[in-house]
Amino acid sequence: NKKYDYLIVGAGLFGSVFAHEMTKRNKKCLVIDKRNHLGGNVYCEEQEGINVHKYGAHIFHTNDKRIWDYVNQFAEFNNYINSPLSLSKGKLYNLPFNMNTFYQLWGTKTPEEARDIINKQIAKYGTKSPKNLEEQALSLAGKDIYETFIKEYTEKQWGKKAKELPAFIIKRLPVRFTFNNNYFNDKYQGIPIGGYNVIINGLLKGIDTKTNIDFFEDREQLELLADTVVYTGKMDEFFDYKYGQLEYRSLRFENELLGIDNFQGNAVVNYNDASYDFTRIIEHKHFEFGTQDKTIITREYPEAWDRSKEAYYPINNDENQKLFKKYKAESQTLKNVILGGRLAEYRYYDMHQIIASSLAKVEEISSNSNE
Ligand code: FAD
Repeated sequence: NKKYDYLIVGAGLFGSVFAHEMTKRNKKCLVIDKRNHLGGNVYCEEQEGINVHKYGAHIFHTNDKRIWDYVNQFAEFNNYINSPLSLSKGKLYNLPFNMNTFYQLWGTKTPEEARDIINKQIAKYGTKSPKNLEEQALSLAGKDIYETFIKEYTEKQWGKKAKELPAFIIKRLPVRFTFNNNYFNDKYQGIPIGGYNVIINGLLKGIDTKTNIDFFEDREQLELLADTVVYTGKMDEFFDYKYGQLEYRSLRFENELLGIDNFQGNAVVNYNDASYDFTRIIEHKHFEFGTQDKTIITREYPEAWDRSKEAYYPINNDENQKLFKKYKAESQTLKNVILGGRLAEYRYYDMHQIIASSLAKVEEISSNSNE
């Protein structure tokens, strides 16, 4: 008999929810992570009393009451509503595209006026079958919105010209004909009071955890510890890249502590123009309505990815999908291994989706073992 039922590789939300739920079902779990902290990408680092979102701004939002109740077991949420701004050609605009944005852009005061401009621009610049991202955006929102908010931002994000990017990157460009700056349409939204670590600590309370342990540095020994391995790292790395490497985009975060109490008056400001190398500035204290004397800001720079960097966004083109499917098929033949989470599934997931997918996995295993 092995010491643990589950060895969980990765202490992000997927691994932490899995460990919590299995522990509740009297299974013994060990959670390891190669980083020097728990929490994966939702980890917050406290500095000057401010919770700094170390791996990028994280705003919790969901339409699913079950998931909202689930996270509320572990933390109280504040009433933060994400309402980012965009600095474009020297002017500030509200996002997402709504009546405030249209007023700032064109001076239109009614939905009819705004709709009319957008429809005329779509008719003039759009095409029936867009062949690249530029054509797609022009067909969905017209020239002004594309040029003011999308073109340069997206080119920085992907490191490629909009004309060279595939159309499918932008499926929809939601425009709203109300004066409503709430970025998300979901029913539930907020930031956990005290930061995301409160949730992670709640999930992992009483569970054995070890940080600074890379699964691949001691794979054989670690596998001896448990009946089943739950792996939430990169899919291709699990197979030692034997069919090739899956591609990602990375980000570089530059943090700055400022001796002033308020730098930009909002948590998120996008920098659209190509003249800035970064895409956004995050001012962390505003996520929690902080009143500290100082402030911490983070400039977010999109970067090419290599294995030495954090893998943030999967590059979902045909080649990568084909490669992923090959790995996926092989992973399904393995016994006593479960792969889950955003890296093992090579998919961008929001937090609420990752929690739902981890809960679903636990339920699937539990119902199979009860049969
Ligand atoms: P992760 O959190 O990445 O956890 C995986 C863990 O596995 C990591 O800690 C890693 O160190 C560990 N690991 C990997 N390989 C090994 C190994 N070999 N040995 C040991 N440990 C290993 N979602 C939202 O809902 N709202 C947002 O506003 C939002 N903003 C985001 C902004 C950015 C920039 C990014 C990139 C994501 C954002 N997300 C957001 C998504 C959110 O971060 C993810 O849904 C969630 O963190 C995924 O959890 P996970 O457990 O799958 O992965």
